[in-house]
Amino acid sequence: MPQQSQQPTQSFATRLIHAGATTDPVTGAVNIPIYQTSTYQQDGVGKNRGWEYSRTGNPTRAALERLIADLEGGYAGFAFANGMAAITAVLSLLSAGDEVIIPTNVYGGTYRVLNQVFDHFGLTFRVVDTSDPANLEAAIGPNTRATLVESPANPLMTITDLREVSRIAHEHGLLSIVDNTFMTPYLQRPLELGADVVVHSATKYLGGHSDVVAGLAVVATKELADRLAFVQNATGGVLGPFDSFLLIRGIKTLGVRMDRHLHNAGVIARALEENDAVARVYYPGLPDFPGYEVNRRQASGAGAMVSFELADGYDAHRFLASTRLVALAESLGGVESLVCHPATMTHAAIPKEERDRVGITDGLIRLSVGIEDASDILADIEQAIAAARED
Ligand SMILES: *Cc1c(COP(=O)(O)O)cnc(C)c1O
Repeated sequence: MPQQSQQPTQSFATRLIHAGATTDPVTGAVNIPIYQTSTYQQDGVGKNRGWEYSRTGNPTRAALERLIADLEGGYAGFAFANGMAAITAVLSLLSAGDEVIIPTNVYGGTYRVLNQVFDHFGLTFRVVDTSDPANLEAAIGPNTRATLVESPANPLMTITDLREVSRIAHEHGLLSIVDNTFMTPYLQRPLELGADVVVHSATKYLGGHSDVVAGLAVVATKELADRLAFVQNATGGVLGPFDSFLLIRGIKTLGVRMDRHLHNAGVIARALEENDAVARVYYPGLPDFPGYEVNRRQASGAGAMVSFELADGYDAHRFLASTRLVALAESLGGVESLVCHPATMTHAAIPKEERDRVGITDGLIRLSVGIEDASDILADIEQAIAAARED
């Protein structure tokens, strides 16, 4: 077993580098090696050295799992092949006849797996605008067993009060699950706000370099850990050793990356707000944004996802065709700035009337603000806005 160095007294930036399993106990290597092995020789029948088979456990994956558990302040962590595998494993803790409540702007893949996979097995769900926790409380029925929320939620950066959601969930005996992908434990730690389970698409900020797909889950208690460990081993959607290594490596620089992401997103959001060609900016770091106060209470930053709507007379498609530095792509959270068009990309599966009703208009543009120099990102966005003017 790699050594553990759990020192919660250290600042978070330090723990990103030194929490979890650190040095390799065998060689002293300062990075946990990539244990690229499927199996482990046993010393005798029934006598293994703590490792049996890499679906069940692998030292590189275990180091990552310890690290994310420490960072989220949980009892145990679990690494999966991607965010959807993590979410699927956590939802597998529920049973036929149970109902889970999800927010209006839930991640599309979460909606799809509930709507088109778990529905085969009798798990039901209800969609609620959780930006007002009273809606959540009103929606709880006799079969509701869990809430699965995100804050901020994509693409309008809708903020949900995580403390309130967990309080209401527990009052009704529900499991409180939070998808913390957009914030990471550097900015927001849902378990400290009362949640039972945190899930991540580590593909995004935790990996941080758009070079790995990975998922993580962290649970608050031993009881949940035992159940999720069973599901992880039984269903098998685990993360491989090389990708586990890449994630550990990514997490070491999370602090410096997020500081720069936050700075850049603030610069871009404020500049867009000042721009006459922009009708509306959605960024939880702007004081007049509806969720600003709640976000400030539960997170130490507003993240680096910024959405905006161009004013009349400007065409979103022309904008998207005109950026040069900022690449048109799905995904988010990498060092490079990306732009996407939610109406035709991430949220295309939602009917147009429904999209317009919730604010995902054809003119809406979503930026994942990277860590390039802010003035270069801004210059690219401003020239693309100028090019988007209809003549
Ligand atoms: C990307 C994403 C997921 C899914 O993660 P994958 O790694 O793509 O499977 C889940 N939740 C949120 C909020 C995401 O952004």
